[in-house]
Formats: sequence, C-alpha cells, structure tokens
Amino acid sequence: MPGDPLAYLAGELDALRRQGLYRRTRVLEGEQKAKATFDGRQVVNLSSNNYLGLTTHPNVRARAIDATRRFGVGAGSVRAIAGTMALHTELEARLAAFKETEAAVVFQSGFAANAGTVAAILTRDDVVVSDELNHASIIDGCRLSRAAIKVYRHRDVADARRALAALPAGRRALLITDGVFSMDGDLGPLPALCALAEEYGCIMMVDDAHASGVFGRNGRGTIDHFGVHGRVHVQVGTLSKAVGALGGYVAGSRTLVDFLQQRARPFLFSTSHPPGVAAACLAALDVLVEEPELIERLWSNTRFFQAGLAAAGFDTGASESPITPIIVGDASLAMRLSDRLFDLGVFAQGIGFPTVPQGRARIRAIVTATHTHDELQFALDAFTRAGRDVGLLPAERG
Ligand code: PMP
Repeated sequence: MPGDPLAYLAGELDALRRQGLYRRTRVLEGEQKAKATFDGRQVVNLSSNNYLGLTTHPNVRARAIDATRRFGVGAGSVRAIAGTMALHTELEARLAAFKETEAAVVFQSGFAANAGTVAAILTRDDVVVSDELNHASIIDGCRLSRAAIKVYRHRDVADARRALAALPAGRRALLITDGVFSMDGDLGPLPALCALAEEYGCIMMVDDAHASGVFGRNGRGTIDHFGVHGRVHVQVGTLSKAVGALGGYVAGSRTLVDFLQQRARPFLFSTSHPPGVAAACLAALDVLVEEPELIERLWSNTRFFQAGLAAAGFDTGASESPITPIIVGDASLAMRLSDRLFDLGVFAQGIGFPTVPQGRARIRAIVTATHTHDELQFALDAFTRAGRDVGLLPAERG
C-alpha cells in the first residue's frame, strides 16, 4: 500500500506549532456580543468586527426572521441563473443610494467582492499598483487577474508614484488601497492617492471593509470621510462587519456594475445570499441612518480604550480606527499574551504570520459600540496584568 500522499501536511502543521503560529479557533456558544461565551467561559469579547452590535440588533434580527419565513432559507442558484431575488436588487439600490454612486452589486462576501472584481476588470496586459498591507482578497484578485503586480510601501504615495511613473505610456493601471487597514487600523491616504490616480489616468479602487458603518456620515466609509466622492472608481464595502450579517458589494458606475454582473466569477458561479441575509442588511442600513448614536458610542469607546492602553505602556501602533493592534513582535509571545488574557476573562486574538509580517505579531483588539465602560475598564486592567505576567510590560514596582 502506498503511504498517505497528504502526510506532508502533518509536517507543515508541526512547523506551525513550533513557531507558535498554529491557530486554535475558540468556539462561541450563544450570541456574538460584547460579552460572550467562548470555550465555555464568559469573557469580554474584543475579537469581533461587530462594531455596532448589529449581529443581534432586534430590528435586524426581526427582518431576517421575517424574510426567512416569507421566502425560505436559500436563493436556489447563482444570481445570473435563477438566484436574483427582489431583496437582492432592493439591497443593491439601497447601497448605491447610501454610497452616492450610480449602482452597486452584492457578492457573497467582502472577499469575493475584492477578488472577483480585481480579477474581472484587469487582464494580463495590465498593471496593478497595490499597498503592501492590502487585504489577502485583493492580493488573490491581483494574482487571478494575471496582471503585473507592483507593490508599494505601506501608505507611501511617493513609492506608488515611482511604480506608476515607470510604466510605459498607455498601460492600463489600477491603483488600489484598503480604506482602513485591517491589522493596523490606519487609513489609506485617499486624497493623495486619488490625485495620483488622476495624474496618471489610472483606475482608483478602495476596499472599505472596515470603514463601512464606522467612518463618514452614518458610516458611509472613507470616501465620505475624506470627501473624495466621484474620485474612486471602484468602492468595495462589506456587509460582514459593522453591518452585522454577511456579504460584500461594489459601488460605482452603472457600466462597472453591469460589467461585473457579466464577468465577475463569484457572481456568475456561486450561489447568492439567502433572503434572510439580504433582509438583515437592508434593516442594518436603516439602523445606520436612524441610530447615529451607535457610531458615536463606538468612537468614544475607542478613545477611552486606546488611551488606557497607551497609559499602561503598550505599543498600539498607528491606529486611527477602532482596530487596535497591541504590537508584541514575537508570535509565540503574542499567543501567550492572548491566552493569559483569556484566563483573565478577555478574548483578544493573537495574530501572527501570514496575517501580519514576520516579527510583527500582535494582539488585535476591536472595541464596539456595545461595550460598557466597566467592560472596557475590566479589559484594560486585564491587559496590564497579562502584559506584566508574560514580561511585555515591566513588573509592578514595590
Ligand atoms: N477586506 C478587508 C480589509 C478585510 O479585513 C476583510 C475581512 N477580513 C475583507 C475584505 C473580507 O470581508 P468578508 O469578511 O466580508 O469576506
């Protein structure tokens, strides 16, 4: 009998364990909330992207249940064949109005929206100029497109300019950045990048996954935050984070959206959202407009938590958003810190390579609008204690 041809995978897993990079996923019992039960333990939850608490918002939940009752649990097919429901087109019209673009198209996830769009709009004759910390779904889209990939240093507009200036005249190029970088919480320099794209006549694309529901008026995103309306040709947003459900979308011109419906492979070859998801997203858009106090609370909680971490002596990088990295460096130390925090009643995930560069391992903590002041203070106290216990902070004197 020949041996197991997949045996080499066990060796790869052992290597991950040795480097402290093996990830064990914690199991959530009950609702995804600010205080939640993971692995049988109630903890302050700083690991979700549920920025506004909409995963369990009563109106959002009720609309999802109602749509499920009325329309069932599945869309039955890919959109292009028999899966487009009235709820999907209603959601797209609402998203376009919200983003102030001509049109929008919804995908099954933000990942599918990014990867499917970049791969669809570029060919092997084109070039993509991409920030080195852009999300994996952008990187995969670039690879799938077979375009030449030029990576510029993080947020370095001069470096992006060098890449564009080196291109032969007439070469089609896409300049692409995250609006909010998912592991550092800093912002793409949109005004300068838009100016650069205009100077070189290239396509400008922004992945606003972490900005949707967080930045701009009522959470319209970084395009609204920076006032660069009409200067970003392709805006990607997600419905999986602040919006509380699942999905991604592209907002832009009618031509772009028509084209993606003809050519984007996740649209053409993967079944669309269940009606309950589309209905939940519609309800969540109502909440963004009707309850702006949620976004205000998100920001005041963010300020309180980040100030507390800085006062305790942690390196929180260059975050400008609720995404709060606590930079540790060594991956196994980051995982030890995360485990100690969990023992103390706080769930904040340790993150290492390949999600962040080697030697830049960290804890990533995300505050939400629904954390109470007491929960955040509890988390800050736990961070200080855990930081000392693992040797990241100096031991208490006296
Ligand atoms: N872009 C960024 C910057 C992200 O952080 C993520 C989620 N990790 C995505 C896109 C993908 O979004 P989704 O979870 O909806 O697939």
